[in-house]
Amino acid sequence: MTDSYRHKGLRRNLAEEIRSKGIEDERVLDAVLKVPRHYFMDTGFVKYAYKDQAFPIGCGQTISQPYTVAFQTQLLEAEKHCKVLEVGTGSGYQAAILCQMGAKVYTIERHRDLFIKAQSLLSSMGYKATFFYGDGYEGKPAYGPFDRILVTAGAQEIPGKLKLQLKTGGIMVIPVGDSSCQVMTRVERITEEEFKVTEHGRFVFVPLLKGKP
Ligand code: SAH
Repeated sequence: MTDSYRHKGLRRNLAEEIRSKGIEDERVLDAVLKVPRHYFMDTGFVKYAYKDQAFPIGCGQTISQPYTVAFQTQLLEAEKHCKVLEVGTGSGYQAAILCQMGAKVYTIERHRDLFIKAQSLLSSMGYKATFFYGDGYEGKPAYGPFDRILVTAGAQEIPGKLKLQLKTGGIMVIPVGDSSCQVMTRVERITEEEFKVTEHGRFVFVPLLKGKP
């Protein structure tokens, strides 16, 4: 697949559209400009890659809407070199955005086909993320604690095991709710025992499921 001037132009428009919807973090907008989203789309949907919409990626899952990716990434305050755990690799697009911003990314996916596809795509693009096949509900304690945790599927509650894998001062962003709608939730670990939880609007994600399919 190639990244043409036309694609770059479409990305510029997409970044401006996302900015007009309220995303202000220039580092996030710059990553949207740089990462070719059309590489992450299923064949039938490539022509829609620069629409601000979610699309199917197989296994009943979706690549998130670019605005949602940007919103979560902005809320996460991912700094360069910080260690980020992503739960729900999916297409790998969100992981690529974080890599592009200079984060050290660990990402978990419970669908084997998506895990394999995303791992080979990101490595072919030169991004050095670490991929895991498994249940992200458990996190990755052996690789933690993390500066940031980003969950890209809708959870019924904040998984206790994930909270405990945050460093003190660390931030987790997770959509929490039932299958029809979730509230974007930011959890900051203030001290060893104390967590500050804030809510940031409603979104719709595919569900965070336990175990492997
Ligand atoms: N971040 C993705 C969005 C994918 S949608 C992207 O940029 O494309 C959410 C993904 O979470 C799906 O691929 C789904 O299979 C995965 N998922 C759901 N529950 C999970 C769990 N417990 N552990 C790991 N991945 C999970």
